Amino acid sequence: MSEFDYTQVKGLLSSLPTGIWLEGENVGATGGRTFEVLDPATEQVLAHVADATSTEWMKALDAAVAAQEEWAEFAPRQRSEVLTDIFTTVAARADDFARVMTLEMGKPYAEARGEVAYGNEYFRWFAEEAVRIPGRLATAPGGNGHILVSRAPVGPVLAITPWNFPLAMATRKIAPALAAGCPIIIKPAHETPLTMLLLGQVFAEVFARHGVPQGLVSIVPTTAASALSSELMADSRLRKVSFTGSTPVGRQLVRQAADNLLHTSMELGGNAPFVIAADADLDLVLTCAMQAKMRNGGQACIAANRFLVDESIAQEFSERLTAAMSASVVGHGLNESSTMGPVITAKQRDRIAALVEDALAAGARATTGGKRPEGQGYFYPATVLVDVPSDARILHEEIFGPVATVSTFSDLEEGIAAANDTEFGLAAYGFSRSLESAQLMAEKLNAGMVGINRGAISDPAAPFGGIKQSGFGREGGTEGIEEYLDTRYISLT
Ligand code: NAD
Repeated sequence: MSEFDYTQVKGLLSSLPTGIWLEGENVGATGGRTFEVLDPATEQVLAHVADATSTEWMKALDAAVAAQEEWAEFAPRQRSEVLTDIFTTVAARADDFARVMTLEMGKPYAEARGEVAYGNEYFRWFAEEAVRIPGRLATAPGGNGHILVSRAPVGPVLAITPWNFPLAMATRKIAPALAAGCPIIIKPAHETPLTMLLLGQVFAEVFARHGVPQGLVSIVPTTAASALSSELMADSRLRKVSFTGSTPVGRQLVRQAADNLLHTSMELGGNAPFVIAADADLDLVLTCAMQAKMRNGGQACIAANRFLVDESIAQEFSERLTAAMSASVVGHGLNESSTMGPVITAKQRDRIAALVEDALAAGARATTGGKRPEGQGYFYPATVLVDVPSDARILHEEIFGPVATVSTFSDLEEGIAAANDTEFGLAAYGFSRSLESAQLMAEKLNAGMVGINRGAISDPAAPFGGIKQSGFGREGGTEGIEEYLDTRYISLT
């Protein structure tokens, strides 16, 4: 299952930057400390990456502060051209980005190519937004003056990103920050820093071409995430934290942000329901269910966690989902036949296995999968659970793996109520052929994003983000740049 011939990627691996990106240079950490990056499909060490310390992340903040004024003075059109050049340069190296991502994260190559295209699209989208930052001029209602409203960059940003989408989760922050005129320090997940370090090489090249201050973007891999965020956030020169990751860490960062009253954007966990009404088009539902459940092997914050199906079609849906899930071909993501890779770590695999075992012990049935395989690599099989008791942990916690749960309802209102019975509110999906039912789900499903008869909802041109314990702030769309702008009011005669 985990066989892979590394000779085909030897050249790529040996050419990758493995240091910290500071002022356009790829440098080692103080004391030469490094950490290992593993291939989750084989448990092989891919690289030793510099493990940044306080010295490096404080240098990154100094560099960001120094770059701030110069960058904010670049005309919007110039900023836009820099972002366009980044987009073009990444696109030209899409194959390298995708292969690195598959190696360190595990997703199949085709999906990695999809993430490169999607993640890179944020540079193009925000290149277009950089020249459209709005303002307003109004006559004061009393007629005795004018109100001028303009927007200014918030200042240096810290971005902390997860391992599941090593490129896109960062580009959603970097592109709007740069478009708005802000410098940014990126702390990638220590499981998957190589994709971001490769992007650092693109920044260094593009910035040199355009005369951009190199301190504008720093990339600081470290195993000391908590020390990094505490120290940087305690420094009043930092003005914003944008975080994508788990809800408990998000809460902790919001608390820390209070001391310096930092702007915060929090893209946190989810527990997406996928509601299927009796009159839904089951062919479409199946295609969308596989997209919403199995993209990234289920390791997506908007992954469908709970399938809620009208009881009249539940049997047929479960059988067809079981057939589709059990057709997944598990293996190394760079092997052409693989349609599903490993999960990211042994810890995640064991967490998924424990959720499944808990549900089975409570009376659920596995119609496919459900058993942790032996051998190298952090694999877990595509699994479908039916008859899951409503109080089973798996219905209330984020699964973050290739496991689908199927529950039933007898009328749509009841299904929607069950869908909303969660502390999370990131994404929800609803399926029906009837306009009335579709509209009901669109209005009543309580989430920041609702897909109606759609299984793939992410779009750089749309505002991505959650409500309730899934966080606040939006990435992408015209809303995305707002997160990096302050409002200034000038009173004029
Ligand atoms: P995580 O919260 O453990 O880690 C995310 C990032 O935070 C990593 O870079 C990590 O090193 C860093 N981190 C961990 N502890 C920290 C601390 N105390 N202080 C500062 N930084 C810290 O999450 P994860 O396991 O890497 O990612 C999975 C989670 O991310 C899931 O809950 C998933 O739903 C969520 N996620 C959300 C979105 C979204 O847009 N809403 C997107 C992708 C993933």
